[in-house]
Amino acid sequence: MGMITVKNGAKIRKGAGSSIREMSPDDPIYKMGWFVGEITSKNFSSKAREEIPEAVGNKKAPDDKSGHPDYYNSHPNFVKFSDGFWKEFKQTQRKSVKSSLIFHIPHASRMISNIYLDQFLLSYRELYDEHLRLVDRYADELFEPSGYPSVISPASRFLCDVERFADDEVEPMAKIGMGAIYCNTTDGRPLRRPLIKEERDHLLQMYHRENERRMKLNLEEAQRSNGFALIVDCHTFPSIPLPCDTDQVTPRPDICIGTDEDQTSPEVIELVTGYFTGLGYSVSMNAPYAGTYIPGGF
Ligand SMILES: [Zn+2]
Repeated sequence: MGMITVKNGAKIRKGAGSSIREMSPDDPIYKMGWFVGEITSKNFSSKAREEIPEAVGNKKAPDDKSGHPDYYNSHPNFVKFSDGFWKEFKQTQRKSVKSSLIFHIPHASRMISNIYLDQFLLSYRELYDEHLRLVDRYADELFEPSGYPSVISPASRFLCDVERFADDEVEPMAKIGMGAIYCNTTDGRPLRRPLIKEERDHLLQMYHRENERRMKLNLEEAQRSNGFALIVDCHTFPSIPLPCDTDQVTPRPDICIGTDEDQTSPEVIELVTGYFTGLGYSVSMNAPYAGTYIPGGF
């Protein structure tokens, strides 16, 4: 249920010492629009807490002599729904879903956690330059996914490219060392030391499968709510081709629309193409980049 906005950074989570209570649509948490399943109170402000009568009543543990006001910060509160509530929540949710538009932004992040830096053979400066070349800069701002279900990969594509096939045998870019786990830079230099199987599997699990899992959750939710889903796979690209690009044709169009023969509807192509050409942009289909992202199993 990643599509639900969780306000104030609060999440709802089951934890040790949890209390269980029923929740009705009159409940303050419900009115505030928190999705439930679980609440972690780490960022759960005391003001918000006080608006929840049950929380106030439970603020101190029986054996808590400290009177510490952040009792809830270390003891998450588990909220359990009644069947009736769950049904009503689902209905409300269906009404509130603006559309079945889902944004997928796989390449905007430049984040590589320190614990993985030893895998890279480049200096910090060189890695920075590679990011400038290959990261889809501003994709997360340009497409303005706020308010819609969206899946934004948190890690740099240099750590794990969630849009390439995890299996090198079927990923065409793996032939130049740029499958889901890159071995080479955009100009063919060694990027990474050889990884052992466990390291590669760990990255694929942490980022690739997690990205796909989140997409599937959103897709299933959209399909349950509206009977269909439309994924907008959001990228940006440089005006001059990179050495690793298959298509070296210049000048490049302002907008490239990648489609899938079976999955992209002609109406959507017409709508999007017409919209951008109407604004005066040059638009091309599947060039310089062909295809679109489809999560496995769809
Ligand atoms: Zn991209």
